[in-house]
Amino acid sequence: MNSMGLDNDTLELTLKSLRDFAVDRLPDKKLLELDARDECPLDIVRAMCGPELGIQLLFIAEEYGGLGGNTYDVYRVCEEMARIDLGISTAVLATFLGSDPIHVGATPKQKKYWMTRIAEEGLLFAYAATEPEAGSDLGAMRSTAQRVEKDGRIVGYKLNGAKQWISNGGIADAYTFLANAPGGPCWFIAEKGAPGLSHGRPEDKHGIRISNTASVNFEDVYVDADRLIGGVEGQGLLQAQAVFGYTRLMVATFGLGAGWAALDRAIPYSTERIQAGAPLSEKQGYTHKLIVPHVARLEASRACIEETAERIDAGEGSLNTEGAIAKYLASEAGNMAAEAAIQALGGYGYTHEYMVEKIKRDVRITTIYEGTSEIMEMTISRDRWQIHLKTRGQYYHEQAKALEAVHSRHPEVGADIAALSLHALAEVLEKSRVARLTRFQHILLRLGELIAYAECAGCLAQRAARMAEGRLSEKTHQRFDAPALAALSRIFAREAALKVAEEGLHWVAGAGGVSDSEMAAFEASLGLPAIHRAQKGLIADMDFIADVLYDRLTKRAALSA
Ligand SMILES: Cc1cc2nc3c(=O)[nH]c(=O)nc-3n(C[C@H](O)[C@H](O)[C@H](O)COP(=O)(O)OP(=O)(O)OC[C@H]3O[C@@H](n4cnc5c(N)ncnc54)[C@H](O)[C@@H]3O)c2cc1C
Repeated sequence: MNSMGLDNDTLELTLKSLRDFAVDRLPDKKLLELDARDECPLDIVRAMCGPELGIQLLFIAEEYGGLGGNTYDVYRVCEEMARIDLGISTAVLATFLGSDPIHVGATPKQKKYWMTRIAEEGLLFAYAATEPEAGSDLGAMRSTAQRVEKDGRIVGYKLNGAKQWISNGGIADAYTFLANAPGGPCWFIAEKGAPGLSHGRPEDKHGIRISNTASVNFEDVYVDADRLIGGVEGQGLLQAQAVFGYTRLMVATFGLGAGWAALDRAIPYSTERIQAGAPLSEKQGYTHKLIVPHVARLEASRACIEETAERIDAGEGSLNTEGAIAKYLASEAGNMAAEAAIQALGGYGYTHEYMVEKIKRDVRITTIYEGTSEIMEMTISRDRWQIHLKTRGQYYHEQAKALEAVHSRHPEVGADIAALSLHALAEVLEKSRVARLTRFQHILLRLGELIAYAECAGCLAQRAARMAEGRLSEKTHQRFDAPALAALSRIFAREAALKVAEEGLHWVAGAGGVSDSEMAAFEASLGLPAIHRAQKGLIADMDFIADVLYDRLTKRAALSA
């Protein structure tokens, strides 16, 4: 991945081409028909990944004929695709995913051969890892790669195995296939039409019905030795892990884009729907339940996605934990937003025609594929638990101090409240250590959730401060100005702080981690009174965000002028 990425004009042009393509080729009516027929429009997928739109060029280096986009560019484009349709996005994502083992693990010769073909021919890939018995636990994989030797030299492999839920499984030109070779797990590439390679019928799914998902079977499929990615056995799981931060970030952007797509239907709808003598958009009980909190959660997820993308592009490694946090929060926030959008449209929301029902079904997949939410909670918790131990419980206190410093420069961005959530988190983790609570798997996973909320609150406050200082990249998606982003940060930080302290107490006490005599001291250590005081101003901030979303500030200014 080129760390510089596209220049801003090229990125904006790519986003515009994507939007124009969607208006022309994927209007709502067509999307609804394809969804109802459970049909993947192969011509459209090929047009997107071929000469017409060339979206695949984004993630291919210039030396192989691509555009050389970086992680940040991929985030912006994936969000835009998700706003259009998550099924189509998944078809494109499968080629991104399928070529990832090549990107990180292939020999220079393999890289040149395959990446050039993806760029020039628009090859569609499928990424075949999951099996009927091996989903979250890929270690249980049964697929095999048997060496074929000639004169004592490995000349090829015979691949056997059944893969399940494979995106593009029935339409791909090439498959990256994970199998156990004698030297350990490896990725192999096999092309469509290889004898012994077959696929099942498209799955009849809850959502992303426009994407093709099928089982793929390998029965004695022969591939030459140069189809072993990297040429060395045993690297498969390492190669898969090397891109987790990046690939999970892409699914995070899907949650973000789909969540916003739902809200962007609910918001205009509410300005036109009159009930009890006024538009729904003027009812505080409506906006402050169904719109504003979801905007805050989505923008907190965006802050986490942007920071992670920037850090990956700056060469900080694959950032798997940060990618997991972004995926977890953005996919859960996207689901909540889409669910609220159905409610916001009332009976109309419950019908197909208004699209939010389809978006809700589609976005559901983001909490399942590329690692379920529960696996994300476990990954986040285990990784950060190690840091908590290594730093003797100081990791989150230190992060909180950094945010207190931000607060002293920018008292408006909610950094002090985010700091409260991080201090509380450090105390919850420490109490869990002393009482050995991570022996309860449920506690371990709940800690993952609290960590994600607290870290995300920190990200959003930092981002709001950078925006106030005019230090955000010109490629940043700027839907909100600095005062609005600061208000969103305060809203989310209040939620995160309350959640970490109260739910932390709930679970620690629930697991027997605090005796009656210790309870008062533990409560005090969580900073609950300060967190309760920080809730002051919440409704005013929500009013302000509703005004921003409905453009009421400009209208009021015009009226008073
Ligand atoms: C539409 C679709 C497209 C997909 N595309 C692809 C693709 O292109 N390539 C590919 O390789 N795979 C793909 N997948 C597979 C996807 O990644 C898996 O479905 C996912 O990883 C979960 O695995 P599973 O379905 O076996 O569920 P399981 O692993 O059986 O999980 C079932 C439930 O148990 C929970 N769980 C699992 N393990 C634990 C644990 N240790 N502790 C607590 N809870 C646990 C999970 O969170 C989940 O809620 C796709 C799936 C779908 C539905």
